[in-house]
Amino acid sequence: DKWVYTFGDGAAEGRAGDRNLLGGKGANLAEMCSLGLPVPPGFTITTEACNRYYANGKSYPEGLERQVDTALEHIAKLTGRRFGDPEKLLLVSVRSGARASMPGMMDTVLNLGLNDETVLALAKDAEDPRFAWDSYRRFIGMYANVVLDLDHEEFDEILGDEKARAGVELDTELSAKDLERVASLYKKKVEEETGEPFPQSPRDQLWGAIGAVFSSWMNHRAITYRRLHDIPESWGTAVNVQAMVFGNMGETSATGVAFTRNPSTGEKALYGEFLVNAQGEDVVAGIRTPQNITEVARIAAGSDKPSLEKLMPETYRSFIDIANRLEKHYRDMQDLEFTVERGKLWMLQTRSGKRTARAALRAAVEMAGEGLITEDEAVARIDPASLDQLLHPTIDPKAERNVVATGLPASPGAATGEIVFSSDAAEDARAQGKKVILVRAETSPEDIHGMHASEGILTTRGGMTSHAAVVARGMGKPCVSGAGGLRVDARAETLTAAGQIFRKGDVITIDGGSGQVLKGAVAMVQPELSGDFAKIMEWADSKRRMKVRSNAETPADARAARSFGAEGIGLCRTEHMFFDATRIVAVREMILADTEEGRRTALAKLLPMQKSDFAELFEIMAGLPVTIRLLDPPLHEFLPHSEEEIAEVAAAMNVETDRLRERADALHEFNPMLGHRGCRLAVSYPEIAEMQARAIFEAATEAAQASGKPIVPEIMVPLVGLKSELDFVKARIDAVAREVAAETGTRLDYLVGTMIELPRAALQAGSIAHSAEFFSFGTNDLTQTTFGISRDDASSFLDVYRRKGIVEQDPFVSLDQEGVGELVQIAAERGRKTRKAIKLGICGEHGGDPASIHFCEEVGLDYVSCSPFRVPIARLAAAQAAI
Ligand code: ADP
Ligand code: MG
Ligand code: MG
Repeated sequence: DKWVYTFGDGAAEGRAGDRNLLGGKGANLAEMCSLGLPVPPGFTITTEACNRYYANGKSYPEGLERQVDTALEHIAKLTGRRFGDPEKLLLVSVRSGARASMPGMMDTVLNLGLNDETVLALAKDAEDPRFAWDSYRRFIGMYANVVLDLDHEEFDEILGDEKARAGVELDTELSAKDLERVASLYKKKVEEETGEPFPQSPRDQLWGAIGAVFSSWMNHRAITYRRLHDIPESWGTAVNVQAMVFGNMGETSATGVAFTRNPSTGEKALYGEFLVNAQGEDVVAGIRTPQNITEVARIAAGSDKPSLEKLMPETYRSFIDIANRLEKHYRDMQDLEFTVERGKLWMLQTRSGKRTARAALRAAVEMAGEGLITEDEAVARIDPASLDQLLHPTIDPKAERNVVATGLPASPGAATGEIVFSSDAAEDARAQGKKVILVRAETSPEDIHGMHASEGILTTRGGMTSHAAVVARGMGKPCVSGAGGLRVDARAETLTAAGQIFRKGDVITIDGGSGQVLKGAVAMVQPELSGDFAKIMEWADSKRRMKVRSNAETPADARAARSFGAEGIGLCRTEHMFFDATRIVAVREMILADTEEGRRTALAKLLPMQKSDFAELFEIMAGLPVTIRLLDPPLHEFLPHSEEEIAEVAAAMNVETDRLRERADALHEFNPMLGHRGCRLAVSYPEIAEMQARAIFEAATEAAQASGKPIVPEIMVPLVGLKSELDFVKARIDAVAREVAAETGTRLDYLVGTMIELPRAALQAGSIAHSAEFFSFGTNDLTQTTFGISRDDASSFLDVYRRKGIVEQDPFVSLDQEGVGELVQIAAERGRKTRKAIKLGICGEHGGDPASIHFCEEVGLDYVSCSPFRVPIARLAAAQAAI
């Protein structure tokens, strides 16, 4: 079996298309080589080798060692250097790389192959021995952290002490001698902690690092990241071993990162940062404040440090050439990593750049305009879920701003919250329902959970490409980074800004669009959905087949739904109108009445309220279809709880409190979700359904007359399992329709349909369709009843199930296409067989989930319905499903 693929010097065994086998990084290194770009030679150990490693109880597959040796020979041939040979020293980096990019999740070891002997050889070869010792201390530090699993903070402390001793502030100011001392203190630390000397054999070092990359696939951070991003464990990671090039060889050397377009705004302008005499992740880790690559960006940022363009004009020009070439080649915005060794440029990574939703839209629209991609591709490029970011509020331009500091606008949107200084504190506060801003010097991968729990992130160090910035953009959270004017004392839990001290729990606002940090809460405005957003939506709408409706019952939701482009209401939950404080007493009267007459009295009070509810919805929706579901939840949910509430209802009904309490006890249910609810209510108490039907017909008749446009209400009967249930309720609805027609003198067209939310209904859809004019798949209940799990109780074990790989997805978030999906498919087929033109839709939460929407397209549903804020997501996802 082939486990190892080599690349280097204009040729490679792999290609960009081999991402599954070689990981994203390995596949793109191979591709860049084949394009003839300057890439240090190396090889990639496949993801299959990683999977085999785990399958074999963590031992390397047969033949791997031999293939690695051969590949090292290949590097030797291309570089004239040999691994472990002090005369012709070859150092390598060992880099992980999964299929999907997992920023910061996997660790890289640089300068591998150094030991007490080879460091001397390197020092002798180099112009400046400082470089050799800098490389060695970095190597020991990284190896100790990544491979030996020692805490990096202790090593940082040693470095900090040494800087203090030497009286310098920056690591670049340390001399060769200083760094030699650091290296030897690092080694001592390793021996203290592990009880063994720092490994001196390059071969042992190499295999130690390869093993560590494989192991990092199962580390806590990686597992968390995978869970958050739905990346299957079975993908595995590849390992890249690559000849080192050195950005820390002095003033003509540098390392940097860049995006071919601005990742925050999408503007077509190369955006990047670099550091002179630095290595690896120095730029991202915020060790020093990085410099801009282009002169334009430098001026815009008001930086007094020279740009790469000014400092190394020739290197800059070749870099720009390569960046342009790569963007054309991949036909997408690229995220590049490079190193300059004594003026010579080396490319170390390229990948599709992560970007904010706003940037994604602008880049897609502009790339389509440039002819780089087609309109279809532009639509397909946008992650529907990311549109959520654009629906975030920003600071009201008219609001007063009490600015206490300014940093970099690292991720757009504004957020207000209480200050917390650690990720754990963020999680705790979130659990108590508080909104928080995470304030840190800089974030690291250990902060992912805290960032998730926060409304926004504020850091005092780090640039636009720092960890905090990259991750926040990915999460769609506002972030201000590198606010150098702030001082954070994490131990004392204080933040000092503009002479003021803020403590944990104090409220601040951050504006990720301007980089400002403001005192207190500030008024926000909703975003305008025009420009690039509107353009992509226009393209999406022209490509999708399914309609998109919204679940809405309040006028505010209905208006929001329309403004987001909803083409009707797919689910109006009438019970939401019943919980209203002004109505609940009448509702309770109705429920607790023990005679039909008593119920009719209460229902008479509710009728005008329901009627006006519906009238308003019809008016807002202006002739678009509106599906109204009859009362669905168990009456149990409306029961009065406290003695006060019981007394209030008793007074309204003019009955004794004791009698009322008895009746309430009698209505108590043990499993209300499987109890007296849905159409079962309409069967027991037809007068409730009759009242609702009357309210609908009267409101629709009046609204139609007022607007002069016909309104065809769709009345939906919930929780039907038997055709006879539907027939019973439908007969009542039809009777009310005839009554209202007689009273008003106008005949109204309407549809009666049913939810499909029980397995029996799905199976019997062929027979139910004789009575139902439409089906709406209520996939929340259908998921509960198909799995036999309760949504309210499932989180306790679903989390365990996900962790243990029993299920990959929460079936309440993304439709279980195999099981629940099969029922949907069966019902759709059988329903259509009976009634060719039957209207089919979905109204569960899944109606706003892109993967589920794809499934709905496959089954050929006519529409999806989701909450108002997800309407744009659904429009885009429906278009992508149709393309
Ligand atoms: P990540 O997946 O976290 O981006 P990388 O494998 O890209 O990690 O390594 C991080 C950084 O280490 C790179 O951006 C680059 O600066 C540096 N690096 C990796 N390999 C080499 C190499 N062969 N020579 C010089 N620098 C390297
Ligand atoms: Mg990294
Ligand atoms: Mg990288």
